[in-house]
Amino acid sequence: MADSTHPPEVDRVAASRKAVAARRARASLKRDIATRVVTPQEVMRRASADPASPAGTMRVPEFLTAIPAIGEGKRDRVLAQLGISPVKRVGGLGVRQRRALSAWLDDRLPEPRPRADRSRLIVLAGPTAVGKGTVAAHVKEHHPEILLSVSATTRPPRPGEVEGEHYFFVDDAGFDEMVASDALLEHATVHNKYRYGTPRAPIEEALAAGRTVLLEIDLQGARQVRAADPSATLVFLLPPSWDELVHRLVGRGTEDDEERARRLRTAKVELAAQAEFDYRVVNDSVPRAAAEVATLAQ
Ligand code: 5GP
Repeated sequence: MADSTHPPEVDRVAASRKAVAARRARASLKRDIATRVVTPQEVMRRASADPASPAGTMRVPEFLTAIPAIGEGKRDRVLAQLGISPVKRVGGLGVRQRRALSAWLDDRLPEPRPRADRSRLIVLAGPTAVGKGTVAAHVKEHHPEILLSVSATTRPPRPGEVEGEHYFFVDDAGFDEMVASDALLEHATVHNKYRYGTPRAPIEEALAAGRTVLLEIDLQGARQVRAADPSATLVFLLPPSWDELVHRLVGRGTEDDEERARRLRTAKVELAAQAEFDYRVVNDSVPRAAAEVATLAQ
């Protein structure tokens, strides 16, 4: 018979399984913080919404050192400065401590704030394998009022790709000519291989007619568009978690260790670029993310 001091074996097994799952969830969340898939402020919001969640049950010192650019020294200074005990969990902070920590984070790591003067030119970028193409295709299908820009590329067509619909397929000389005649708003060599560029004329026409234009391009292209037109709206697409992005990047397991490591390093560098963007959209579901991108255009 079980009593309160000796819980039955099944209960103990279930409890230890639950504890392992909770630790795993917290470790996964720490990876999300370290790779900037979630902002520290978002973790704090999740913790106060649900103190029993992975965010809520994480100890404050662990939370702080998971944040890029916060080492142990800075962690200890912040805890002392804000009067937070190192045994505290994020979900267990008092109102005043929570406000003080949020303000400290806002000061040092501001979350992207939409600017008021942004234009109807929307650039969708994000790390490799996050699903930009799928989200853009969904916007195109469900929001015919939005023009999805068709890029020029020197890459050969893949089976099923249609000239003028998926890309304008050109050879190197044709691409050079477009660059020379300033026909491209931006252009870049992607993955060190083929050249891609955004034709300027259709975009200018659509914007002049009051339409919203969506560009699905790489990070180098997004930076060039911002430089050419500072009012462009830059949207960064994020994976639902770092673990999910790793799964999408290397999931099939066909690459060797070196290639795997290279892809993960690239993804971390790409994620770090999000600070340059106006909005963060999480690709947790394609229709939801596409709907969010479409509302940013209004
Ligand atoms: P894919 O060859 O798989 O269609 O596209 C490869 C990459 O090229 C994607 O990351 C896509 O965002 C990027 N890309 C497509 N069109 C353009 C473009 O016009 N300019 C830039 N800079 N990147 C592009």
